[in-house]
Amino acid sequence: MLRLLCVVAHPDDESGCFGGILSKYSEAGVDCAVISLTAGERATNRGGLVEDNLLKARRRMEFSDACRYLGASRSEVWNYRDGLLDREDFHQVVGQLVRYLRQFRPQVVATFGTDGFVTAHPDHGMAGLFTAAAFQWAGRANRWPEQLKDGLAPWQPDKLYQVTAEFSLKERPPISLSPVTARVNIDKYVDRKNEAFALHKTQLPLLPIFKHAQEQAGTCELFHLSATRKVTEPKLETDLFEGVEE
Ligand SMILES: [Zn+2]
Repeated sequence: MLRLLCVVAHPDDESGCFGGILSKYSEAGVDCAVISLTAGERATNRGGLVEDNLLKARRRMEFSDACRYLGASRSEVWNYRDGLLDREDFHQVVGQLVRYLRQFRPQVVATFGTDGFVTAHPDHGMAGLFTAAAFQWAGRANRWPEQLKDGLAPWQPDKLYQVTAEFSLKERPPISLSPVTARVNIDKYVDRKNEAFALHKTQLPLLPIFKHAQEQAGTCELFHLSATRKVTEPKLETDLFEGVEE
């Protein structure tokens, strides 16, 4: 079976940045999983919830609903600190991701680049950094060997993609986005992506900004192939699973 893992920083990133590919690939029978490293408890928009713990609980539910709506078979919110991913223990976060990769065994992994994507959010960049390390190390038996005593085997995914774009947001810090190497048509799934984002009711004030960005992005989600198990000729792809075998 084909499997896709998306690693994000906050609940709503999965819909805003990966909602098209999650819808498209889950509909095509790909087993899709999503991890959010934080519960987004320091968000500006709080749905009237002042206490971080209450917002955390609410955003966990919103994330779970949105992932299910997008067709993901599994979703997890981890408990790292929102806004502080750069202060978390690198070895711990990457080790947890390595364990997840070894358990779920995805062929394709999608996340952010260190640019932080169009919002330039440092948490996004950190999610990309942790995931890039986990991608490289999950297949090596000498990394977190204690996990292998539990019956897990090393697992090397085939491809790592960073989400990218051909526009920037004026009100955000300037960034240098990675060049597009994969252009996935999500024409049929734009509505579902918007609807999934709207399931994050605490974040509804962001919906107009999200929709504006979505209009600029058009009917494709764009990616940069940042690592691959097999050396291949560089070319523009239209399918993240191109060349991947079950
Ligand atoms: Zn985010």
